[in-house]
Amino acid sequence: MIRTDVLIIGAGAVGTAIARELSKYQLKVLVCDKNDDVGGDASKSCSSCVATQATLTPNTLEQQLRLSSHPMVLQLCEDLDIPIHRCGSLTVAVSPEQMSEIPSVLDRAFANGVWDNEVLTREEILRMEPNITPAVLGGIYAPRDAQINQFLMVVAQAENAAENGVEFLLDCPVTGMEVCEGRIQSVTTPKGTICATWVINAAGLYCDEIAKMAGDCDFSMHPRKGQFYVIGKDTSVKVEHIIKSIPGESGHGILISPTVDGNLLVGPTAEDLEDKSDHKTTRSGLEYVKECAHRLVPELCFEDTITQFAGLRPAREPDGYHIRLSDRVEGYVEISGIRSTGLTSSLGIAKYTIRMMEQAGLPLRRKSDFCGRRKGIVSFADKTDEEKNTLIMGDSLYGRIICRCEQITESEIVQAIHRPVGARTVDAVKRRVRAGMGRCQGGFCSSLVIDILARELSIDPAEIRKRNGKSYMLYGKASAQSFEEQDAAKSHC
Ligand SMILES: Cc1cc2nc3c(=O)[nH]c(=O)nc-3n(C[C@H](O)[C@H](O)[C@H](O)COP(=O)(O)OP(=O)(O)OC[C@H]3O[C@@H](n4cnc5c(N)ncnc54)[C@H](O)[C@@H]3O)c2cc1C
Repeated sequence: MIRTDVLIIGAGAVGTAIARELSKYQLKVLVCDKNDDVGGDASKSCSSCVATQATLTPNTLEQQLRLSSHPMVLQLCEDLDIPIHRCGSLTVAVSPEQMSEIPSVLDRAFANGVWDNEVLTREEILRMEPNITPAVLGGIYAPRDAQINQFLMVVAQAENAAENGVEFLLDCPVTGMEVCEGRIQSVTTPKGTICATWVINAAGLYCDEIAKMAGDCDFSMHPRKGQFYVIGKDTSVKVEHIIKSIPGESGHGILISPTVDGNLLVGPTAEDLEDKSDHKTTRSGLEYVKECAHRLVPELCFEDTITQFAGLRPAREPDGYHIRLSDRVEGYVEISGIRSTGLTSSLGIAKYTIRMMEQAGLPLRRKSDFCGRRKGIVSFADKTDEEKNTLIMGDSLYGRIICRCEQITESEIVQAIHRPVGARTVDAVKRRVRAGMGRCQGGFCSSLVIDILARELSIDPAEIRKRNGKSYMLYGKASAQSFEEQDAAKSHC
């Protein structure tokens, strides 16, 4: 039996933000996640935009948390060395109907207390973004909108929380709860039974399933899929700002965003589904993204695409942010409906949740030795030749390039493995240091990364996975044994 003061279910943006916030206090905190790595489901496959989101309905909890979180995210990036690209956004009108919407979009921004948005003329927009369609009529500039490295935002918080005493149990799905006399007695996982005074449900798309286990569920969750293209750094047609279309009947439309690493992220769609495991991209979804993007930037080169992916927003029915203490089950906290703004709002959600718990009796005594700072892994690719030489002199593994596309060295990969909450899979390495994120998408470096993981973790290369579940990448040693024999041997194990 594992005992803890607080159990957080889910290591996405919300769960790790809460974990880091709680690590400031004298509490035993445990985070468990069904995935092999921190980073969440929705959190790792979102648009990565830290936006002021002037268009949300004023005075909702979502809008309040979103707005209050924005400066906290900027501070977090400073404290934890998280890459952020403070590029601003341009919301552009390309038809007279969209032009007529501009005053109401601006009014909404002002009603939300977002005072720094500015209306720009066609000429001003074309000066700022020469690749925008000549059909543009005008638009709104939001100077504080930014693109963040969403993987590192979560990883950095998890690392910092772990440095301050939080424990992480990964590959560890919560499968059941025993509730007795209005209290959760225990939480069942494959890694043991957990007994916690407080249980926080931050399971994103799956939080209805956790709520059912707790015996307090009056809502349901479904995925709202968003499909994206990632266009390579070397593409000839780029944008400097996040480009959006004026929100219309079909929603907020798609974004064309310059990422922190110099790629372009184009998408997402918004498709309501039932299947929570449907991460497939579809021809129709991608065609829709391309069509919308070309209306904004007609010359955008989709031929330079390096990958496509889909993320699932955790959509709630009834919708809206729901952050509450259960009135049926003592010590159970539900965080649901964090659908499409949660990366930005996660820091506000963490503060709000912990304050609510404190008011209900959670004792918050600050630790005297909390360290709120973290340094990221030094990136070889970003350095001058002289700095590169210095790095190699200090650690010869900086002298061996593993990922040719992104110029990632063996040292960076080894560091990613040995940090707190370190990488255990090929994708976990990729998210931390970008090995495999370039044009060849790991075609060259995956086998080298497998070798390094196996060596550093002292396990057989055949046991290294790409990510969750049984995503093994190697069959076994090439030998006289046929593939069928090896297969039979594996399934026998
Ligand atoms: C396409 C798309 C675009 C978006 N764009 C933006 C944007 O630009 N800006 C922004 O701020 N937000 C954006 N969002 C929203 C944002 O990504 C989410 O609101 C946020 O990531 C939710 O975080 P979370 O931690 O609640 O959920 P998740 O990241 O989904 O994390 C939940 C975690 O719970 C774990 N879990 C589930 N069930 C169990 C179980 N039984 N046991 C243990 N663990 C479990 C999961 O494995 C997962 O790791 C977007 C989302 C999508 C999908």
